[in-house]
Amino acid sequence: MNPFSFMRAAEADEAIHAGSAPGAKFLGGGTNLIDLMKDGVEAPTTLVDIHRLDLVQIEKTSGGGVLIGSIVRNGDLANHPFIRKDYPLLSAALLSGASPQLRNMATTGGNLMQRTRCYYFMDTAFAECNKRAPGSGCAAIRGYNRIHAILGASDQCIATNPSDMNVALAALDATIHVKGARGERSIAIADFHRLPGNTPQTDTNLQAGELITGIELPAPRYAAHSHYLKVRDRNSYAFALVSVAPALDIEGTVVRSAAIALGGVAHKPWRSAKADAVLVGRRPDRERFEQAAELLLAGATPYQHNAFKIPLAKRSIVRALTVAVEGARA
Ligand code: SF4
Repeated sequence: MNPFSFMRAAEADEAIHAGSAPGAKFLGGGTNLIDLMKDGVEAPTTLVDIHRLDLVQIEKTSGGGVLIGSIVRNGDLANHPFIRKDYPLLSAALLSGASPQLRNMATTGGNLMQRTRCYYFMDTAFAECNKRAPGSGCAAIRGYNRIHAILGASDQCIATNPSDMNVALAALDATIHVKGARGERSIAIADFHRLPGNTPQTDTNLQAGELITGIELPAPRYAAHSHYLKVRDRNSYAFALVSVAPALDIEGTVVRSAAIALGGVAHKPWRSAKADAVLVGRRPDRERFEQAAELLLAGATPYQHNAFKIPLAKRSIVRALTVAVEGARA
């Protein structure tokens, strides 16, 4: 591990000032960052510990939604009464990730910032990785790419976003609140993470030194008809090969609004406005689900070892939507 300096911020402005220095990183639970530092993948000049900041609230907003502080632990969030009752999709996604020990340490903001688990990114023995060393190439494109992207990739990087929470937040249309030296702003979850393009080293649209202060969810609409389906190689402590987060608002026998997010397939949670729209105003049946699956996977491009993800994702979408519809009867 490289030498670095460490400071513990007492106030957000102090953290932002320190976090704006070149090479500085905020330290939340450290469950990803510290591992990457030990492996030589990350080498921050300064760690800015934000544990003492007052960002631990889980509180209802005036608009009927919920505001979640960025250092709320994943375990606390998943098991909070508001979240279990009004946003069971988020609770289920969080509980499907990592282990209880990790969930008790990892923070909400840190989960948003998780880095890819691409083998070649995680192991500095591989020289080629544009995300770790811009301009060095991408070992995964011609290497073993079973876990990699089938949507939104570029010839610079085919990595996927590893977070389950991010998939649920995408379906729930979360807003990310951030604060930097130039003030506060809010970023829709759809705009928070980036596709790799020519700059895969940059995972998000955060500016240097911007601190995530909270995540806001709109008023709950999908509690009765949502589901998180995670398909992985083993049933715990594994990242998704494919995950699906459907959220449906059903009135009578008709879908009033729909949101489906996919995980494990792209550099960011994957949404399709056309897939959502095909369900709206219709009975939620298998034919519509299959149409939505086709629309979500439109343009999917497999690599040598991950073509299986396309039919897997389509079947998973149909299954997850079926379970979501049945939710009210469960
Ligand atoms: Fe690096 Fe991205 Fe290629 Fe993986 S897929 S080796 S993270 S550039």
